Formats: sequence, structure tokens, C-alpha cells
Amino acid sequence: MDPTFVYPTRTMDDWQPYLRHLDGGEYVNSIGGYLVRTGSAVILADVGVGVDPPAPFTGGDFLDELAALGVAPADVTHVVFTHLHFDHIGWAVKDDRLVFERAKYFAHEADWSYFFSDHYQGVRIERQQDRPSTQLAPLADSVNRWDGDQLELVPGVVLRHAPGHTPGSTIVELVSDGERGLLLGDVAHNPVELIDSDWPGVADCEHDEARSSAARVADDLVATGTPFALAHSPGFRWARLVEGHDGRREVVPVQ
Ligand SMILES: [Zn+2]
Repeated sequence: MDPTFVYPTRTMDDWQPYLRHLDGGEYVNSIGGYLVRTGSAVILADVGVGVDPPAPFTGGDFLDELAALGVAPADVTHVVFTHLHFDHIGWAVKDDRLVFERAKYFAHEADWSYFFSDHYQGVRIERQQDRPSTQLAPLADSVNRWDGDQLELVPGVVLRHAPGHTPGSTIVELVSDGERGLLLGDVAHNPVELIDSDWPGVADCEHDEARSSAARVADDLVATGTPFALAHSPGFRWARLVEGHDGRREVVPVQ
């Protein structure tokens, strides 16, 4: 996408220090989800845009990509929504049936109640059929609406409330063999939102709260060296946020 489409208040001059986070001047916005396998759980953190997303997005490969990793829909034990924007929920339900029929689905209470209320105005490119209250209606009786600051999903996987982008925005914390990693959802869409505290977010419900959640996470990432992945990281790659020599924070890929 055109970077100025994604961040309308930022010009290409503003992007100059951050061009390495674009691809030849284009903004790459991967959409999908993360697969987390523990000893007994098969967890999806977000489930893409489905087969018929609004332009300029494209989709349709999610189940094929999972199959290539040896995972059938019935193998999935947990589906976690980092939040309920349409580009994170697309494969939850298809033809009024739950795609992952044996999985427990989890959404933060603050998101569920907001997206199903009259307060939700929709996002820029969303059509009626993309709206969470339309897409997720078949889940209404069975979704696990968790509340509060955190929930241990299974040992080693903790959901953490990080509101602002949406009221119930959720970070997925993974701990394994003494190592920690964070799936940040849309707490930041591009590393530039973690590097530059003045950079705007995208489609944030509460701008100030979203920026302070991002700043808090960024400080944690730098202080602890914890690897992270954004919901829209190009290629879904992991990275670390470090203090650069020039005082500007920088992102270092995790090999
Ligand atoms: Zn998103």
C-alpha cells in the first residue's frame, strides 16, 4: 500500500528516517495469524481476513497455509482474537459455521461489548458484511469473553489487556524454556509506531490510550530485549527493539 494511505497525517518526508520499514517505498501489510503449538494446545492468535476482504486487501490462503504446517481446522484448540477488527477475524466463521469447530474462541469483554454496540462506527474500508457484529454473530453464544488485565490461556501462554487501539486490545505473551516473546496484535502496526512516540496509530479507538500502550510496550521491549511480532509484520517476522547509537530506537530482526 501507499504509506500515506495507511498514515494520512504523515508525508513521505516524515518517512525518510524509517524507509527501511517500507519495501521500495511501499507499505507492506501482511495479514493472517500466528500459530502457537504447546505440548497439548494448538492456538491461533488472529485468523486473517477470510476469502472476500474489502479492497485493497486480498486473502483466501489461511487454511491452505495452516495445512502446509500440518494443522487441520479440527486440530485447533484455541482461537484468540487480539482484537475484533475485520482483518483479524475473517476465518473465525464461514457460511454461519465455526471454521475451527473444536476450538474455544477468546475475545476480551471490552472489545466484544464495544464492537457489538452502537458506539462502533466501523473503520474506513469496512463494508457491512465485514463488521464484527455481522461476521461473528454465530459465535455470540460460545465465545469466551474474558475480562480484566490478564488471563492464562494455557501454561506458557498469557493474554494481556493493552487497550487503546481497541478497548479490548490484547497482547499474547509466550513463555517457553525461560524465554519470552510477545505477539503485539495491532498495539503497533509497523515498527515505526514503537520507535517514534509521536507517530500516529491506525484506526485507533482511543488515540492517547493507544499511544501510551505502545510506549509502555516499547519501553518493556527495550529494557528486556524480548522478541516481538506485530500482527501485520511483513512476512510475520520476529524482531527486537534496541536502543540505537544515535539515540533513536531501532528494530533488529530475530534470525
Ligand atoms: Zn489489523
